[in-house]
Amino acid sequence: MNERTRLLGELHSLSKLLHGSWVERYSTCSRKNCKCHQGERHGPRCYLVVNKNGRQRQKYIPNSQVATALDGVKQHQRALEIIDKITRVNLELIKARTYEKVE
Ligand SMILES: [Zn+2]
Repeated sequence: MNERTRLLGELHSLSKLLHGSWVERYSTCSRKNCKCHQGERHGPRCYLVVNKNGRQRQKYIPNSQVATALDGVKQHQRALEIIDKITRVNLELIKARTYEKVE
């Protein structure tokens, strides 16, 4: 199997990828006697900050989904690496004038 085929196969496996910035927040609630007002704030609550139409949106990630979502953020990083590698392979093919012959 050539390198590009292998890379495309790996890209296919990155089904949980998430493109965004990870944010964890601690907060205080409206109950006046709650310990969160003495410094033990609630949290963390996790969010993924995503760009939509040039604006940032914070998407809440429920605790039950956090582990998988963190994995998804890593998968996006790997996808970018793979795209860079495929670009390098394709540039070599262009240099060799064989780019259009490869499936
Ligand atoms: Zn509280």
